[in-house]
Amino acid sequence: MIQVEEALERILARVGVLGDEQVPLTRALRRVLAESVVSSLDLPPWPNSSMDGYALRSADTRRASTAAPVRLSVSGRVAAGHVADRALVAGEAFRIFTGGPLPEGGDSVIPQEDVSKDGGAIVVSRPVKTGDFIRPQGEDMRAGDGVLDRGRLLGPAEMGLLAALGRSQVRVLRRPRVGVLSTGDEIVDLGGHPGPGQILNSNTYSLMAQIDEAGGEPISLGVAADRLGDIEAHLRWGLDCDLVISSAGVSVGELDFVKAALERLGAEQHLWLVDMRPGKPIAFATIPSAGKRALPVFALPGNPVSAMVTFELFVRPALLRLGGHARLQRPIVRARAEAPIANPGRRRGYLRVTLSVGEDGGYRARLTGDQSSGILRSMVAADGLAVVPGDTTVETGGTVPVIMLREVR
Ligand code: AMP
Ligand code: MG
Repeated sequence: MIQVEEALERILARVGVLGDEQVPLTRALRRVLAESVVSSLDLPPWPNSSMDGYALRSADTRRASTAAPVRLSVSGRVAAGHVADRALVAGEAFRIFTGGPLPEGGDSVIPQEDVSKDGGAIVVSRPVKTGDFIRPQGEDMRAGDGVLDRGRLLGPAEMGLLAALGRSQVRVLRRPRVGVLSTGDEIVDLGGHPGPGQILNSNTYSLMAQIDEAGGEPISLGVAADRLGDIEAHLRWGLDCDLVISSAGVSVGELDFVKAALERLGAEQHLWLVDMRPGKPIAFATIPSAGKRALPVFALPGNPVSAMVTFELFVRPALLRLGGHARLQRPIVRARAEAPIANPGRRRGYLRVTLSVGEDGGYRARLTGDQSSGILRSMVAADGLAVVPGDTTVETGGTVPVIMLREVR
């Protein structure tokens, strides 16, 4: 049996980043940037007002006070989207609005609520400092600044930044295409009717959703019966994917044909049993292919929770690597146990816990209940996986590292 860290190292050593493609900006949300973006312009492009008010020369107000206010004649106007038609000279103020370019000759803005009006003039009763309420040219970014690195996950702020730079098209990494095969004589796919001894296929759907969340494009390869030939045929459908996942049929039972089918496809196997619970039987193999990179294949255990947890620990980082993500790991937080968190048995436990935020702002963890690997509802309840060494109990109040599966509200 090998350790989780060693298993992940062996996997990542055999998974490389895919190629890239160009997409319209409006399709780039949640994609991974394939280029490093350098600003092509200064932003803002010119100094402009951050308030509705009056542009003026600060020197004109140097001696202004309530006792001796200064009158400036309002002799120009700069709305956003327009420029002043001449320079501002001493003794003048120009009406200006938020985003309006600072007129030449002006060096500051006084907000409209800070002046009183007197016919065609404003009355200023305090000194205005040079640069007041001016957003300087290039305060956000300057032409030539590196603003986004390759590998960055694009979110709403990145969308805005790329738009501000005029990037209506952007180069992103290709989404990995991931084939998902379920196996087992007892498994009937959605739309079918389970006969005696049969159940509906759930793994395909939880795994496809996990793939989607990790930025992959899931493709169902259907359900194969517990027959070597059938499993091999279904796996063949996935040979043009970037990654293939199967579930079930991978333990040491007589009916476990997935490994044998992989061998028939010429796969090289890189790992088999991993020291973890749930999980343990998980195979990772690569199928060499002429003129193409080898296809990584994960054979995950069949129990619904084991399939999801092994996906989380091994497939997700591999998928993120394929998709070019810079960060492969979930955040890990330290939480206090609200009740004992016991991991009986020798294998390292990845125990399903709910998380909450305590009065001190720190996380609290509590087991979701029975940790049996067939209990899908415990995954529904889980906010995270507490990592507990074998034969260990974290007592109430003790701390435990928790892999965060989702945000805690
Ligand atoms: P196996 O790894 O083939 O021994 O399967 C372990 C357990 O997982 C068995 O109880 C299976 O019925 C169950 N199982 C396997 N595949 C699926 C699936 N696609 N959906 C739901 N349960 C499954
Ligand atoms: Mg089976």
